[in-house]
Amino acid sequence: APKIVARNVTKTYPTLAGSITALDDFSLDVAEGEFVCIVGPSGCGKSTFLRMLAGLEDISFGTIDIRPGAEPGKPLNSVVFQEYAIFPWKTVIDNVAFGLQMRGVSACERRETARAWLDRVGLAKFADYYPHQISGGMKQRVSIIRALANDPEVLLMDEPLGALDAQTRVVLQDELLRIWEETRKTVVYITHSLDEAVLLGDRVILMSAQPGRRLAIFEIDLPRP
Ligand code: ADP
Ligand code: ADP
Repeated sequence: APKIVARNVTKTYPTLAGSITALDDFSLDVAEGEFVCIVGPSGCGKSTFLRMLAGLEDISFGTIDIRPGAEPGKPLNSVVFQEYAIFPWKTVIDNVAFGLQMRGVSACERRETARAWLDRVGLAKFADYYPHQISGGMKQRVSIIRALANDPEVLLMDEPLGALDAQTRVVLQDELLRIWEETRKTVVYITHSLDEAVLLGDRVILMSAQPGRRLAIFEIDLPRP
């Protein structure tokens, strides 16, 4: 069953010279539990689409439908951005627990859930550190598990490993794959790297667009090893 149904999604921004089309007539279905990667050159509209999926931006034309499951109270989405969107004044564990607090989960259960997630990515002993005391790779692990701890219907990621050095990126790719295999979360993942898309995705969407031209969209289905 599709978890995400996006139909003819178009985004225009007003500018002084008229308007610019950031995304033109893009349609995509994502099945429940599927890991879809979107690759394309800078400026083709990937981030714009993700922000619309996340409800952070209005859709100019078309529709996006994220279909909730049977379990009530789950947030529709959680987003992981390239920049570590974690709170510098909160400890690692409080960062991970933050989304749960917004959902009214008890303090005790929040800490338990957050600790379990920290354990899964080898960060348990850094629970009481502050973000400035840990590495970039660790900070991005915190961003990712904070999103997952919310148990969202869909996980949206915009170049989550883009700011990391090559070595750390490889480690995090492995970790993401392992976590995805355990959780089977529905994922939409934006990256500049075709290598990364092919490594992580069940399906890769190649977006190609020239200013003022229509989007060309190619899809590749990948067998998982
Ligand atoms: P990508 O993520 O593929 O690099 P974006 O979605 O960031 O592409 O941007 C698509 C196009 O829309 C680009 O030409 C970009 O400059 C433009 N754009 C994005 N956000 C805005 C905005 N807030 N105002 C005006 N133009 C924007
Ligand atoms: P990305 O790393 O995804 O390529 P961008 O650099 O395209 O991100 O965009 C960063 C922010 O700047 C976004 O919030 C986007 O909406 C805004 N933005 C991008 N292009 C423009 C533009 N041409 N005019 C105004 N805002 C823009």
